[in-house]
Amino acid sequence: MKILLLSFYDLGKQPKIISELYKKLDNGSNQIDIVDYSIEEKDLTLDNYDVLGIYASMHTASVLAEQYLRDRKLPNKLFVFGLYANVFSEMFSDFQSIHSFDSDELESLLQVQLNPNYSFKHTVPDRTILPSITDYSHIVDGSNNLIAGSVETTYGCKHECTHCPVPIEFKGMFKTFGTEKIITDVTNQVEEGAKHISFNDPDFFNGPKHALKILELLNEKHPSITYDSTIKVEHILKYPDYFQELKNLNMLFVISAFETTNDHVLNILQKNHSSNDLNKAVELSLENNIDIRPTWMPFSPWTEQNDLISIIKLIENYKLRETVDPIQLTIKLLIPKNSLILKRPEMEEYLLNYDPASFSYAWRYKFPNIDNIQNELFTYVLQHESENEYTQYLGLVDILESHTGETLLNPEKYNQRIVPKLSETWFCCAEPNKIQLDRIKSNKALI
Ligand code: SF4
Repeated sequence: MKILLLSFYDLGKQPKIISELYKKLDNGSNQIDIVDYSIEEKDLTLDNYDVLGIYASMHTASVLAEQYLRDRKLPNKLFVFGLYANVFSEMFSDFQSIHSFDSDELESLLQVQLNPNYSFKHTVPDRTILPSITDYSHIVDGSNNLIAGSVETTYGCKHECTHCPVPIEFKGMFKTFGTEKIITDVTNQVEEGAKHISFNDPDFFNGPKHALKILELLNEKHPSITYDSTIKVEHILKYPDYFQELKNLNMLFVISAFETTNDHVLNILQKNHSSNDLNKAVELSLENNIDIRPTWMPFSPWTEQNDLISIIKLIENYKLRETVDPIQLTIKLLIPKNSLILKRPEMEEYLLNYDPASFSYAWRYKFPNIDNIQNELFTYVLQHESENEYTQYLGLVDILESHTGETLLNPEKYNQRIVPKLSETWFCCAEPNKIQLDRIKSNKALI
């Protein structure tokens, strides 16, 4: 059986799930081809295959997959997997959504026996069948540009933030991967040249003891490797001792979804943190000398001009100019099918039609002038893409100052720092933007 697996974008990382699936499909007789269109360009005749599997990792990947598949002749057997699998299969009913590689969903669809020894929890992915990790996001800090790998200690999430696609699929649950699988997968990537590993868990502290145990084992085995992870504000504050421990275990920085300083919006998003908690989380990171990289979603139906002012004030007060990606200051709420935010009564008044081509609902602002500000900020980032991020940040603040009439930049002399970050910025719950789509479509290297 000839099987083709396609990936379009996985946040700048190697699409590890494809190598998991490869292990499942590898029954000794299947011929399996793989293309990752985020870094390579191949002209394929899709109906030369018996089966096509699409990795709908998230929103941007689904948009790109839809554009790619449009008007092409497809094989008879079609399936889709990943976080957006359901959203995708609702749009394209010929594609069967696969939820678990441990179930018999794939066997039933393909009508062949697959690898009977496969286990999602324990089987080590075979990354040799993917493009090299050197082709994906690197860790950069001014002078250095180092190969980065990635791994997960868990999948799913125990929280149900209403704007997030993860709970649509996982319904507030998470599971752990086996220790041996994680350690071996990292070791394989270190042997391929990785100097840094990103933990791709939706939240590294969903199971903090499991996470810390893995990190300790990895530090013993690979003492020179550094790490980054994503930890929500609530967990940073709930587990201060574990958070403090991260510094001793080579955690270079922590990404944390701050979203907004507007407590009303934070409540609608069910983030379980307040604007004051943002200050506490930053203070804890400063005390422990762990860089925190806040991600933001400043624009939602309820955004007020004051929110934008207070976001910049927080960045300025704590001298975080280098740890906020400028594009983050332009991010808008994204509402896919079945989004939990559709159940919030506050949403009713602002919800518009569903747009199938963008896999999301349109919505309107309570205060229409906010739309102009978002457009202006976003256009600025598009037009200044080639400038360094520090300059972009200053440009964005300048726009906000002109709209609000407030002086937002701290007048004290600012000592600009060089901080480590990934060369592909974080876009999980956001609409794909033009920079990102152009970058992926041109297969421009991320390094
Ligand atoms: S935003 Fe983070 S913590 Fe909230 S549901 Fe999504 S992954 Fe979990």
